[in-house]
Amino acid sequence: MEAAAREFLVRLLETPSPSGYEQPIQQLVRDYLGRCADSVVTDSHGNVIGAKNGAAPTRMLLAGHCDQIGLIVQYIDGDGFISVQPIGGWDPIQLVGARVTLWTASGPVPGVMSRKPIHLLTDEERKQVPKMKDLWIDIGAADKADCESVVRVGDCITLELKVQQLRRDLACSVAMDDKIGLWVVLEAFRRAVAAGPLPCGLFVASTVQEEIGLRGAQTSAHAVDPHVAIAVDVTHATDCPTIDKKAEGDIALGKGPVVYRGPNMNPHVVERLLAAAAARAIPVQLGASGRATPTDANVLQTTRSGVATGLVSIPNRYMHSAVETVSLDDADRTADLLAAFCRGLEGSISWAP
Ligand SMILES: [Zn+2]
Repeated sequence: MEAAAREFLVRLLETPSPSGYEQPIQQLVRDYLGRCADSVVTDSHGNVIGAKNGAAPTRMLLAGHCDQIGLIVQYIDGDGFISVQPIGGWDPIQLVGARVTLWTASGPVPGVMSRKPIHLLTDEERKQVPKMKDLWIDIGAADKADCESVVRVGDCITLELKVQQLRRDLACSVAMDDKIGLWVVLEAFRRAVAAGPLPCGLFVASTVQEEIGLRGAQTSAHAVDPHVAIAVDVTHATDCPTIDKKAEGDIALGKGPVVYRGPNMNPHVVERLLAAAAARAIPVQLGASGRATPTDANVLQTTRSGVATGLVSIPNRYMHSAVETVSLDDADRTADLLAAFCRGLEGSISWAP
C-alpha cells in the first residue's frame, strides 16, 4: 500500500464514527473526494456521495459504510459513574477492561470500562456472561456534578482508536468494520477516475448507520438510482483457532478479496468481478451466502425496481472487538479489482439474470 493511501486509512481509523455520529469521518471523506469527484453531496441522513461523469447512461455505485459500533451515555450515577447503551452489536465480554473515549461537546474525554474484580465475583457471577448493565465507565470524576460538567446523556463513546501493525502486512484496530471497506471504495473511485475517461457514471457513497440496520445505503441508493452497485464490507476470516470451516467457509487473511455468490448477488456482477480479477492476476476467494446478507448489499439490491448488486469483502479476524485484524494487501487488491470492474462497464449492459 502506498504511503499516502496508508496514512489516509490510519486517519479514518483514528476518527470516531459511531452510527448517527459520523460527522467527523464524513468531513475526511468530503475532503478526499473533493480532489477527484465532479460533485460531492452530503444528504440530510448524513451519507456523503461523490460522483464522476454522473450524467452517463449507466450508473455504477460503490458503497462502504463509515459508521462503527460504539456506545451511548445512558445514565450518570451519584458518584459520577456512567452506564451506557450499545450502538450496534457488541459482545459485552469485549468491553471489560477496555480503554474508551467519550466524544463530548468539550472534546474527547478518556475513560475506562470495567466491572468488579474476579476476587469479588460470587461463584454464580463467575459462571455468567457479563451483561451491559453490569459494566460501567469511569472517567475519574469526583461525583455526578463533576461528571456532568463534561459528559451529557447521549454523548457517543468509542473504544480507544489506535492502529497497530502486526507481522507481514497485517494491521489491527477498532472498527476495521468497515473503515477498511470505506477506504477501499474511496480508493477504487480515485483509481478508476485517475485512469482516464470513464465508460459509466461512477458514484461512491460513504453510507451511515449500517450497524443499526443498513439505513444509509437505503437512502443513498434511492438518490443515486444506480443500475449496478457493489457493497464493500468485511467478512469473517476463518483462519484462526476454534472457527469451523464447514459451517463458516474457508476465508483467509492475505489471500485476496472475497467475492460473494448467492441470491443477494447478481450473477453477471459476480462473473464480471471474477473476470476482472483473472485479467489482472488478482487472487480472489469465493464466499457463499444463501440469504440476504447482513450488509449494505441487502438493501442496495432491493432499491426501487431492483439493482444488479455485488458484495466484495475484506477478510477480518475478531469482528466487533478492539482488535479487528485485516491484511492491507487484501484491501489494496480490492481497490484495484473494483477500479477495473468500473472501468469495464462499456456500452449498454443487460443485468437481467
Ligand atoms: Zn460492516
